[in-house]
Amino acid sequence: MAKRKDLLAMKPKKIAVIGGGSSGWMAAAYLNAALNRNGKTVAEISLVESPDVPRIGVGEATVPSINHILSVIGISEGDFLKRVDGTFKQAIKYVSWLENDGSAYYHPFNRFRGSPIDRSGLNWLMSDRSVPFAHTVSAQPALCDANLSPQMAGPWDFGPPLTYAYHMNALQFADLLRDTSTARGVRHYVDHVTDIEMADNGDIAAVITRDGLRLDADLFIDCTGFAALLIEKKLGVDWVDCSQWLLCDRAVTLHVPYDHHYPGYVRPYTTATALDAGWVWEIPLQSKRSLGYVHSSAFISDEQAEAELRRFEGKHADTLDARIVPFKVGHRAKSWVRNCIAIGLSGGFIEPLESTGLYLSDLATVMLAEHFPYGDDFEPLAFRFNRIMANRFYEILDFINLHYCLSRRHDTEFWREIQKPERVTDRLQAKLAYWRMKPPSPTDFQDQFFPGMPNTALPSGGFAGDHRSPKDAGGIFGVDSHEAILYGMDFLREECSQWYGEDRPPTQIAEIIASRLKLAPQKLPPHDMWLQRAVGMPVYKSASAPSGNAGRQ
Ligand SMILES: Cc1cc2nc3c(=O)[nH]c(=O)nc-3n(C[C@H](O)[C@H](O)[C@H](O)COP(=O)(O)OP(=O)(O)OC[C@H]3O[C@@H](n4cnc5c(N)ncnc54)[C@H](O)[C@@H]3O)c2cc1C
Repeated sequence: MAKRKDLLAMKPKKIAVIGGGSSGWMAAAYLNAALNRNGKTVAEISLVESPDVPRIGVGEATVPSINHILSVIGISEGDFLKRVDGTFKQAIKYVSWLENDGSAYYHPFNRFRGSPIDRSGLNWLMSDRSVPFAHTVSAQPALCDANLSPQMAGPWDFGPPLTYAYHMNALQFADLLRDTSTARGVRHYVDHVTDIEMADNGDIAAVITRDGLRLDADLFIDCTGFAALLIEKKLGVDWVDCSQWLLCDRAVTLHVPYDHHYPGYVRPYTTATALDAGWVWEIPLQSKRSLGYVHSSAFISDEQAEAELRRFEGKHADTLDARIVPFKVGHRAKSWVRNCIAIGLSGGFIEPLESTGLYLSDLATVMLAEHFPYGDDFEPLAFRFNRIMANRFYEILDFINLHYCLSRRHDTEFWREIQKPERVTDRLQAKLAYWRMKPPSPTDFQDQFFPGMPNTALPSGGFAGDHRSPKDAGGIFGVDSHEAILYGMDFLREECSQWYGEDRPPTQIAEIIASRLKLAPQKLPPHDMWLQRAVGMPVYKSASAPSGNAGRQ
């Protein structure tokens, strides 16, 4: 086997990225920045995107891991926010998920820990629940309620930083990555791939385009979205369907420009409001609000969904154009097969409730840089890559499933169906049974095997004996996120009455959070004001409050 030093001295590997959506450009930009350093070219990267197949155009809310991608690529926060119509996201607010009554809870990115053994979850369970859980462990829910920015106008002097992600225009994000990558040497072809040429050993040899380009490479990254041109259409790798557990398969989207209707503020968080057959996202940008009703076509037609979304938003939405975006929930049996790696929607998709689409693309890209095949032996690297991607996929699937299955809504067929036991994954059922015995704690997430969980084989393949590892210590959603959803959904209410009686003490907010919140209005400007001053967001005239969720503070 060649030594690593010799491998680095080898001639650059050719990488062909097929597809120029967010995942294609993220892969091209990140691999270029991460691999080609110190004046050395390890990878020669080309990207081809079709002029005929538009990008999916959704994918506007992110999680904080996007900061890693941006910093490796070398895009500053200011440039990013200006180029992508960007705003801050500190949390997701869930409205009407437990009951159909407008009640809400937050899943914030920041969490305060009072002591090395954190008892805040347990303390909340032992209290009368008079304050929502997330408000007792994080300043962010109250900062979000007040529409405050997570950044100060001047230099930061407000204690530990507030963790945040961003909202952005997905098309402009891909454009920004395209401009950054091509300026640094990534070759860009706008052409439609019509054929794929195979090598004798079963690898992909080249892609052929309509205009006669033959693009050969050592490694092909399939970023063609749900079309999955290389991984599925050519290599025949199966799609593992997961629609049994997540019923939604379409979104109807609307954009509400602020010069058409400005509610008077820019929320520093995403709102997810449960509707009759799914839920609607509200994503505030600098120029507009983006809405999307994620729904199940088995329970509502596109026309009914569009009408419900328009009613939700209010009269002013009547004149706005709506668009239908179909999708499917599942993953590729293996994301990396031979010299082809599926990244983005071609590799898998879980519905957008916790904004994990771009996260999975970004994880795959970062892992590919770490598992980069400098030599010719791809197999062990691909094996590890596929296992981690499959583990992470199922962790997220369970977590999204959790949001639905604890609901007490029975007002529509959709909500009755989604709570049936067969709609809840075996793993999640085992986790919930375990957490009914013992509330969740950090070590639960170092070993995601739970008593009663069947040790079923995963179709992620690999070597003989491959099955899902019980361990996935690097998961995205740990104890903090699980507590936010579980307790936001009023988990263990009956058990706590039995364990601790009915007469429990009032819920306390940690002193450090209360004192931070007292200072917050002096330190943190309103989100819209910060955007106007720092990145030039226009000043809009406020409309009267709309009748939908946009009107509620
Ligand atoms: C309803 C919905 C909401 C979502 N919301 C979020 C969210 O809030 N947050 C989040 O993180 N993720 C979200 N996602 C996921 C996110 O949109 C995707 O992960 C992201 O946009 C990446 O898409 P992509 O690049 O894989 O595919 P696409 O954007 O579909 O790009 C496919 C590319 O392949 C090219 N192509 C196709 N065929 C050919 C061909 N023959 N020749 C050459 N090129 C070709 C196309 O031209 C295009 O450039 C959402 C997804 C859906 C469906």
